[in-house]
Amino acid sequence: MKRILLVFAKQMKLKIFRRGKFYRQDHPQTSLRVPPCILLKWISAVGGLLTVVTQSSLVLMAVFVIPFFSLGCGPAAKEKQMVQFIESHIAKVEPLTTKANLAYWDASTTGRPEDYERFNKLQLEIRRIYNNPQEFAFLKDIKECGQVGDARLARQLDKLYYAYLRNQIEPELLQKLVDSDGKIQEKYNTFRGTIDGQKVTMSDIYAILTTEKDCRKRELAWRASKQVGDAIADDLIQLVKLRNEAARKVGFDNYYTLSIVTGEQNIKELDDIFEELCELTNEPFARLKKELDGILAESYGIATEDLMPWHYHDPFFQRTPLVYDLDLDIYYKDRDVEVLAEKYYAGIGLPVDDILARSDLYDREGKYPHAFSFEGDRHGDVRILCNLQNTERWMETILHELGHAIYSKYHDRKEPWLLREPAHSFTTEAIAMFFGRLSRNAAWMQKMLGLPDEQRAEIEKVSEKYLRFQQVLFARWAMVMYNFEKQLYADPDQDLNTLWWDLVEKYQFVKRPPGPVDAGWASKLHFTTAPCYYHNYMMGELLASQLHNHIVHKVLKLKSDEGVSYVGRREVGNFIREKVLAPGAVYHWNEMIKRATGEPLTPKYFVEQFVK
Ligand SMILES: [Zn+2]
Repeated sequence: MKRILLVFAKQMKLKIFRRGKFYRQDHPQTSLRVPPCILLKWISAVGGLLTVVTQSSLVLMAVFVIPFFSLGCGPAAKEKQMVQFIESHIAKVEPLTTKANLAYWDASTTGRPEDYERFNKLQLEIRRIYNNPQEFAFLKDIKECGQVGDARLARQLDKLYYAYLRNQIEPELLQKLVDSDGKIQEKYNTFRGTIDGQKVTMSDIYAILTTEKDCRKRELAWRASKQVGDAIADDLIQLVKLRNEAARKVGFDNYYTLSIVTGEQNIKELDDIFEELCELTNEPFARLKKELDGILAESYGIATEDLMPWHYHDPFFQRTPLVYDLDLDIYYKDRDVEVLAEKYYAGIGLPVDDILARSDLYDREGKYPHAFSFEGDRHGDVRILCNLQNTERWMETILHELGHAIYSKYHDRKEPWLLREPAHSFTTEAIAMFFGRLSRNAAWMQKMLGLPDEQRAEIEKVSEKYLRFQQVLFARWAMVMYNFEKQLYADPDQDLNTLWWDLVEKYQFVKRPPGPVDAGWASKLHFTTAPCYYHNYMMGELLASQLHNHIVHKVLKLKSDEGVSYVGRREVGNFIREKVLAPGAVYHWNEMIKRATGEPLTPKYFVEQFVK
């Protein structure tokens, strides 16, 4: 038990590192701003990271399950059994969840190890509930007989069924997964790459990649960033095989499929979305990249054909090189981002003053140094944690976190407890991104900061280019991640290093370096700590754009989105509250999107917003 807590403690530290200042240029959603409700799910998707169920606890759990099996058959009987099951389930889970959430808040605001320990213990208790094989068998039986006709009851059944399904891992295998995961993270945390025999940190590497003109030094820094991949690749492949073993035991061909299905997604649907996105961005990305290559090659005094992966300012070319960036901090430095955010949300009819009053917004010794949104219970205790400064980055962050927070605040509390959560983790991400994007929106800045027209034009010129590049670039990078991870789980014994570079060349148009290829891909820590999840970041962007398009054309009834900032437009807030936030998880995510925008999730509006 103690060791498992340690693994988790390490994971927390790791997140703190990853959200550190050198990720300033990170794509918003890659900086792991995860609200605890999502965190809980996420952890459970990691493959039983925290839980080891002991024999005695299994025996105890068997005791209170038995009544469910003794009831009759037929639709009405099944529904009655389901209602009873839910009642008893919530009676156990709700108080534990609230306690766990509050423990997480205490831990994050104080940094006290005993609070983290309390949180981990409560998490473990929750996991034990979902690990119960008899209760799972009951849910499986009800689901398979298809006799729950009531829509809300059926949704709750789905939610419960998948939550139990992904937790049906035998204790022994679970222990192996925990060990394997812990071992990789430990190696990752303590590993330091080297340049000419000298140890370097990731901060050193980022500093070189963003400023150094000497190509040899750049190459060495880039290679140093990948060395950890070679060090952990074998262990990671072992972990992948263990996860696959766990998935096969519950009837899936591999862990990727298990994760997608229990996340209420569908591989064919995801394939179609990513393929369409690829086709729609191929040509525009080639154009943008050619322009960028010209600028970069010139800055290094080399030919564009000689550009190699180390010339792109980021180890994975997932963020826009700094050539298009603009310092927007000057516009925010004499302002108060908290006041701006409060005023903005109030203006669109989604006031956040109560959320801010409960929140922990400013830097303090021992406090978690980054940001997240938090839901204590499902009765309105919503808060955010930030470390605000008056900069563009924190403007974006507070708008983003409040986006998550209003999602929780405005769930219809008349809906059942189990459905009072976002339709999917990517839909809350979409709302957060939708609002977070505004910190760089010239029209929004003009209205909120009272800027003159010339300043707005100046921001528009640079900011649009940056945003467009960033979005298209991220889409191409997400394609590499999506396709690689899917194939990694389908066949972990294939030549993964070559597969990685085949995909990088195909989607990012970046040349593989000469010589034998290394396992640099394994240095992307998401493969270890957030497996089979990366595609959701992209789905969030797609949905944010789809909502934007619908709001511009159907809610505000405008011809184009030029100069749109939603400042003071209550109809925007009303639409979002009514169609997205209030229903929570009452509908499957794609049904919710269809009801809100008239069509299922599609990449075409993302392309329309950023690619044209
Ligand atoms: Zn977020």
